Amino acid sequence: MSEITKQQVLDALSQVKGPDLKGDLVSRDMVTEIVVTGGNIMFGLSIDPAKAKELEPMRQAAERAVSEIEGVDKVMVALTAEKAPTNGATAPSTRGAKTQGAAPQSGAVAGVKHLVAVASGKGGVGKSTTAINVALGLAAMGLKVGVLDADVYGPSLPRLVGQKTLPQQDPTSEGKLQPAEAFGIKVMSMGFLVEEDTPMIWRGPMVQSALQQMLNDVEWGELDIMVIDMPPGTGDAQLSMAQQTPLAGAVIVSTPQDLSLIDARKGLNMFIKVSVPVLGIIENMSYFVCDKCDERHEIFGHGGAKAEAEKLDLPFLGEIPLDKMVRERSDSGEPVVVSEPDSVHAGIYKDIAKQIWAAVEGKTATASAGPKIVIE
Ligand code: ADP
Repeated sequence: MSEITKQQVLDALSQVKGPDLKGDLVSRDMVTEIVVTGGNIMFGLSIDPAKAKELEPMRQAAERAVSEIEGVDKVMVALTAEKAPTNGATAPSTRGAKTQGAAPQSGAVAGVKHLVAVASGKGGVGKSTTAINVALGLAAMGLKVGVLDADVYGPSLPRLVGQKTLPQQDPTSEGKLQPAEAFGIKVMSMGFLVEEDTPMIWRGPMVQSALQQMLNDVEWGELDIMVIDMPPGTGDAQLSMAQQTPLAGAVIVSTPQDLSLIDARKGLNMFIKVSVPVLGIIENMSYFVCDKCDERHEIFGHGGAKAEAEKLDLPFLGEIPLDKMVRERSDSGEPVVVSEPDSVHAGIYKDIAKQIWAAVEGKTATASAGPKIVIE
């Protein structure tokens, strides 16, 4: 079958009425960044953020119109905001500290008890590896677990769980996507819809909207906990995400290097700014035990994250040694917690999982509502 063209998508969208039923989506110049990968189509509709809620039916109509094109498998439509929202808007904002006046997104994700973000100040520190292994550690406790890969810039979850595609979609599910299942947990990632190396241009609001859809338009079912693998860094997109998602808490992954710790501190401050409790810090690539001499080598120094956690009066959740096996298992789609359940590493990840669970359960005992956003 021939490749679906952007023109076909535009033709379909020109049949959908614009806001206030005036004109159509194309003639009103609302369609942004169409991405076609095989049968998967993604695009944005740029709107006034104050109208995000009332324009949801329009978004759904656009989704329907495109899904009717022959050969289309999945459609993802993000509402994107061109302008920063005005006072009290509930739509995503990209304006950093000024967003503190905005209200949080409406309540929790249906059926999901706790949402926990795994974040890092910069890329490459092992955030995704930690997120999936901790999630599997939570599952090993008998909990119902989901993992949402919100790292839309470099989605790695499909590779980490060794699956490339979503399951056959149920046509009766009214537009909701079925997540993939791996090792007994539910997983969702933009990487199931686009190739890992497909360059995508994401503007802040589009990232936020994509995340909201992966949270709300996916059949997650009942979950005890959802682990969200955040995009690395502390930019506007991450801040907005932290603010708009009803997080029970966040954990920060850092390597012991100073530079990484400075970045981790920024990550920490970001969550503090939006009043999301930081549940603790994890030091990854903490030390290396040589399999030949059995000696412990502290390649990046050691203990920096622990000292930092103490200074900030935050729990230190654990240190994960640098180990070739972790990387190899990750690359082959068999995270160590399931492939080497009796290894030292699996033990550490499971221990971290226990601490995270205790922290979020403890929190709900005293405060059942989601995090409060500071209104200055
Ligand atoms: P991030 O999500 O922070 O960008 P990843 O989880 O993708 O980082 O990890 C980056 C690389 O480091 C991957 O190749 C991964 O397999 C490897 N890695 C992560 N943690 C460890 C570890 N403890 N020991 C060895 N390799 C690791």
